[in-house]
Amino acid sequence: MKIAFFGAKAYDRAHFNAANSAAHHQLHYLEPRLSPQTVKLAEGFRAVCAFVNDDINAEVVAGLAGLGVQLIALRCAGFNNVDLAAAQKHGLTVVRVPAYSPYAVAEFAVGMMLTLNRKYHKAFNRVREGNFAIDGLAGFDLFGKTVGVVGTGRIGVILVRILLGFGCKVLVFDVAHNVECQALGAEQVAFEEVLRRSDILSLHCPLTPQTHYLINERTLALMKPGAMLINTSRGGLIDTAAVIAALKEGTLGWLGMDVYEEEEGVFFEDLSGRVLGDDLLARLLTFPNVLITGHQAFLTDEALTNIAQTTLANVEQFERGEPCPNRCEPSPGSPQRKQG
Ligand code: NAD
Repeated sequence: MKIAFFGAKAYDRAHFNAANSAAHHQLHYLEPRLSPQTVKLAEGFRAVCAFVNDDINAEVVAGLAGLGVQLIALRCAGFNNVDLAAAQKHGLTVVRVPAYSPYAVAEFAVGMMLTLNRKYHKAFNRVREGNFAIDGLAGFDLFGKTVGVVGTGRIGVILVRILLGFGCKVLVFDVAHNVECQALGAEQVAFEEVLRRSDILSLHCPLTPQTHYLINERTLALMKPGAMLINTSRGGLIDTAAVIAALKEGTLGWLGMDVYEEEEGVFFEDLSGRVLGDDLLARLLTFPNVLITGHQAFLTDEALTNIAQTTLANVEQFERGEPCPNRCEPSPGSPQRKQG
């Protein structure tokens, strides 16, 4: 099939070309993100392939349908950037990759904890400048610390396993009871208890109306003074202005975030030659106890390979007219989620 790839990066090309070596689809890689301004680039293609920050609103869907596009193949788990009702109205099929590597994200979350705590990034820069002094680099043992994991799905459970290996006391909270976490030795407690007791809190639940601003002024006030907060899930879980206030007061000790509520148009782009227009993000970048990465927790070879293989398998199922288990359907009343 002829597929137009929007927002294609070098790592997309490498992994999709490898996955396509047997399938022989015609993959056309385009740099721009899919939006009302770029939709015309899909002319002549039966499918488009899009990512988390492509804007596939009703106007774009109508534009795609008008050009004869039949399939929107998302190379990500989340689909709230797609107007599914409009896609259904125009007869477009939407497919996605629901899971690709929970290990990638769980391991990255641990990396953020260690980097903030043991200051690898500062040590790296110091040593490269010939400064071998270690004052100011003291951290704490993870062994014996209490870590709270909110959301014990695919990623959360793996994080629990890793943290137990460090000798941490692990508290978990999820709206659904998790038998595996209990068997592993994690303690299932109420959300407020996780906040009160955790030295480190890591978020792994999806963004829904219930979890939007889960971390806000009120919940930050319940956290242990000086605690560390890690968010590799979705930016909207955290009220950014509230965490900035808590960091300034010193009540929040550390913040690691791979996702940001206003990341669209900033993350995944090289803006190094421009002035950063987002004042909250700019303020966060000034704190010595804040680590920000640009939505890269998923970025491992294994995850990229799985994304490419599943996306092309979805395309092939569509081509053969077979039912695709990874098809996204609009579900009235249930909110669409944006995931990594
Ligand atoms: P999952 O669906 O397997 O697990 C999510 C868990 O959250 C479920 O157990 C669910 O019951 C729980 N949950 C739902 N609402 C909750 C609430 N109000 N409070 C507590 N728990 C709640 O998802 P996953 O594969 O583990 O992924 C978790 C999140 O990680 C995704 O939603 C996505 O946003 C994010 N993610 C980020 C990246 C990245 O690169 N940074 C990559 C992949 C996924």
